[in-house]
This record gives sequence, C-alpha cells and structure tokens, in this order.
Amino acid sequence: MKVGKIIKVSGPLVVAEGMDEANVYDVVEVSENRLIGEIIEMRGDRASIQVYEETTGIGPGDPVYTTGEPLSVELGPGLLETMFDGIQRPLEAFRDASGDFLVKGTKVDNLDRNKKWHFTPTVKVGDKVTEGDIIGTVQETALILHKIMVPPNVEGTVTKIEEGEFTVTEEVCVLDDKISLTMMQKWPVRRARGFKRKLNPTVPLVTGQRVIDTFFPVAKGGTAAIPGPFGSGKTVVQHQLAKWADTEIVVYVGCGERGNEMTDVLMEFPEIIDPTTGESLMKRTVLIANTSNMPVAAREASIYTGITIAEYFRDMGYSVALMADSTSRWAEALREMSGRLEEMPGDEGYPAYLASRAAEFYERAGKVICKGSDDREGAITVIGAVSPPGGDISEPVSQATLRIVKVFWGLDHSLSYKRHFPAINWLNSYTLYQSSIDKWMNDNIDKEFAKNRIKAMSLLQEEASLQEIVRLVGRDSLSPEDQLKLEASKSIREDYLQQNAFHDVDTYCSLEKQNLMLKVILKFYDLSLDALNKGVYLKDIENMAVREKIARAKYIDEERLDEIKNIEKELETEIAKLIEEGGLLDA
Ligand code: ADP
Ligand code: MG
Repeated sequence: MKVGKIIKVSGPLVVAEGMDEANVYDVVEVSENRLIGEIIEMRGDRASIQVYEETTGIGPGDPVYTTGEPLSVELGPGLLETMFDGIQRPLEAFRDASGDFLVKGTKVDNLDRNKKWHFTPTVKVGDKVTEGDIIGTVQETALILHKIMVPPNVEGTVTKIEEGEFTVTEEVCVLDDKISLTMMQKWPVRRARGFKRKLNPTVPLVTGQRVIDTFFPVAKGGTAAIPGPFGSGKTVVQHQLAKWADTEIVVYVGCGERGNEMTDVLMEFPEIIDPTTGESLMKRTVLIANTSNMPVAAREASIYTGITIAEYFRDMGYSVALMADSTSRWAEALREMSGRLEEMPGDEGYPAYLASRAAEFYERAGKVICKGSDDREGAITVIGAVSPPGGDISEPVSQATLRIVKVFWGLDHSLSYKRHFPAINWLNSYTLYQSSIDKWMNDNIDKEFAKNRIKAMSLLQEEASLQEIVRLVGRDSLSPEDQLKLEASKSIREDYLQQNAFHDVDTYCSLEKQNLMLKVILKFYDLSLDALNKGVYLKDIENMAVREKIARAKYIDEERLDEIKNIEKELETEIAKLIEEGGLLDA
C-alpha cells in the first residue's frame, strides 16, 4: 500500500500528491481514519479523490493509502432483504459496528462473512465449466434461488465440489485441482458486466397500474423515466412498481429527497405479500439507501452499485427491475464534484459529460442472453425518477434522460393538484415499445386490446380539443354526440386512469381486469352513441344507474371479475330500455 499526501480538502473532494502509481477509479483510504474514497481524476502524481464520508477534521499533510483496486461490489448470497448504502455497506451491520453515531472509516464487510448458506451443486466432478456456468444453488430466500456462477475469465474441469453449509468466502468448488471457487465474486461498479448478446425487449413489465400497462407500457429489459415536480407522485409510482411489477428481483435505489422515504420502504415492503407464494416481497428485494443527510459523493456511486447488483441477478437468468429515485440527486452530486474539480461547466453548471454518464447508466438495462452454456435469458428494466426544479423538463437532467429512455411518464402538477393520481399526463407521455407490446397484449389478453386502447386514447385526445371549445362557448354549444364524447372520456379519466395506490383493491389491477374495465367503458360509449342516434336524450344516458357501477368497477376484487361482465350486461339492458322508451315517445 503506497502512501500519498493530502494537499487540499474541499468538502467531499480531496487532492493528494505522490500518487503516481494510482489509477483513475481506484479506491483509496484517506487519513488515519481510513475514510473510503475513489480517485476521479489523475494529473501527474496528483489525484483528485471523491470521499464517501464526511471530511471534516481532515487536512493537508494527512496520508492517503492506495489500494490498487477499483470501487467494487461483493456479489453473492446475502444481497436480498438487505439495505446497503451507496458503496454497499450494509446499514444494519454498519450501525452495529459503529454504535448509534456513524464513526468515520468504520470497516464492515459488504456481505456477511459469518453466515452459512446451504450450497447444492448442480455440476459434478469431471464436468467442464466456463465463465457464467452455474455450478450450484443456494435458496437465499423463500422466493429466490441464488445461482452460483463461474466468475468471468475462469474455466476448467471440476475436480472437487460438495453439498454443504458454507460462508461466502469458503471454497465450494475446485477446477483443475488449482482454481478455488467461492460463492462470492467482486465486480467494479463502473464497468458493465458482460453478456452474450442483447435481445429486443417485447414482453411488457406488468405493473398493475392501469395508465402504465394500458397506455404507456415498458417492456422487460426497457428503460423508462418519470419526471415530475415535487409532490406529483414520483416516489409513489416507484414504490408501486417495486411492490407490484411482475419481475423476479427488485433493486431499489433511493437517493432520497426526503429522509423518511426509505423508512417508508422499510416499514411497508415487508408487509407486502407476494400473492403466489404468500411470502414477503422483501425476499426478492435489494435496497440501496442514500438519505439526504449522507455525503453527496455516496449518492453518485449508489446508482452504479445498484445497477451492478441488478446485472449480477440478470446474469443468473432473472428478470430484474431497478428503480432509481431520484436520478436528479445523482446528477447534482456529479455537478457538485465537477464544480469542486473546477471543470468547465456546461448547461446550468452540470458537467458536459452529464448526458454521456446518464446514457452509460441506462444502457446497462436490456434483455440479454447471459454468459454460460445454457443460453439463459435475463433482463434489467430501469425506471428512473427525475425531479426537475419547478417541474420544468427543459432542464439538463430531464433532457439528458429523455434522449435515452424509451418510455416517458410525465407527471403533471395540475393533475396532482386536482388529486388525479397517478398524475401521469396522458397527452404528452409516450412509449416506444407500443407496437411489440400491442401484439403481446392481443395474443395474450384480448385480440382487441390494442384496438380498444387506441379508441380510448383518441377519445381522450378529442376531449382535450373539445374542452377548448367548451371553455370558449360553453358545453351546451356542443352537439349531443360531442357531449357524449366528453362523458365517455371523463369516465376513462376518472373510472380508469385514476388509481388509488392506497386502496386495498385498487392498488393493483391485473391485465384481465384492465381489459374488462376498459371494454365496459367503451361499450358505454358505443351503445350510448347508438341510442342517441335512435332518439334517446343525452340526459337520460347520463343518468343511467349502471354508470355508478362502472365507476366502482375498479374496486371489484380480482377473484370476482365476472361482476364486471355483469355490469356490461346491465348496461346493455338499461340502454335497450331507454331506446324502447324513446321509441315509444317517437310513436
Ligand atoms: P414526489 O416523489 O413526486 O415528490 P410523492 O410520490 O411523494 O411525490 O407523492 C406525493 C403525494 O401524492 C403522496 O404522499 C400521496 O398523497 C399522493 N399520491 C401520489 N400518487 C398517488 C396515487 N397513485 N394514489 C394516491 N395518492 C397518490
Ligand atoms: Mg419523491
């Protein structure tokens, strides 16, 4: 370990000289307190170091120790159900080791070194294995079978492997009598883990949120951004996806705007039970927490720590969803470090490389054929929240993000103000996965699903222009047909798009239920239009008793979806009656 000397301290940035043997992205230990830092720039023998802990009390002349290793995460059993900080220190263990107050430079292992896991081999002596091959499994939680893989650049013939109880650092397998394998791998967080090849994402990530699944779906392996002003519901959307999305693993990165948000996660997530297994959803979740009171640099690292862990589970062949809330906090950390490095500032003080850094991060999403001889598929879906100041998405972080991601869920202050939740603006949001997911929906849910979606969306778009006219000359100036359009689109907005995250039933809506609900609303429109043409008064259509039932369809239990079909029958009967009565009047 070589020693350099500090010449300058500026907040989380430390400059040291005598560092000629170190490289960019190497981890160093700063001062006798051994604070963890990472070299972010080298000039001659001078290293600029971003320090992941408070630097108060540190000054020029203090030593800096090089480690010669890049910032890495430990990958192996023990990741799930754990909450880590931005550089993968487990927060629980961290607290135990340092007492109530965070003592600087406290050393803890990222993965528990004492816990024994039951390892079951899936290969036997004599088998040839190569990078990415699965040599055994550990039932890490009731929900997830952790697959132990041959690390990168390793291959050989198994000469020893046994079932038994092992810690993550004990040998579980030997190749060619000399290569010792444990259940733990290390990986530098700033480098994407490899795969064989990328595939096109075509299967929807079902979230149970109607506005998302029906109108702006994201594919498994895709990327989405949720920009929105403070209080518009970004965190609630992220939590809803972490709870309900049909993904096998969730990595939740909280770069907190509010300190208590991660507490909410910790309190709530364990209570959410996976309907198919009856187990807590924490058993499939890894949490990375950076509250606003943690040093800014750790926030910068946290999304890399998160995506590397996500890649590791992807490599096992799992479908992983990573939520980052909010990436604006990450970008601000980048800006702060750039400012202290006295780099040439770009737009609004962000460094010129903001866009390329954001792109590098989102490009680590994707559906892939994993390394390993069995050609298994894995996927990472990345969903990033963005908090533009004042909600104005013309700012650099939103713009950099929108150029990369394929789905945009634009949260709107005016909607959240009216308590229309989720406040996703249906007029400016978009998805670039539409055509492949339309096909999937038509094949798997209803052959008319895409047709219905398009019809509902065009009603919503017509509503927007009709409302302009209403504002100018009043609703009565519209034809009954146009007024009916307003009624139907209001029903789509209120009875369909609005979804209460805090209602026991409404919080999750299956695709089957979404399909039935949308169909009954569109049927209301079609049958009513027909009735209007047959002389029925709009007022009588508006006052039909069945409309209340349509409005309450969202609260119907998933087990009783037949009731939605009954509403449809009632609708048909009521309209037929109106036509009959209208017909009598005509005669
Ligand atoms: P942001 O993260 O954008 O600042 P939050 O996600 O914290 O905003 O949401 C702010 C508030 O809006 C929540 O506390 C909640 O009251 C309300 N809200 C957001 N989304 C929903 C929803 N789907 N259902 C009900 N209430 C919601
Ligand atoms: Mg939030």
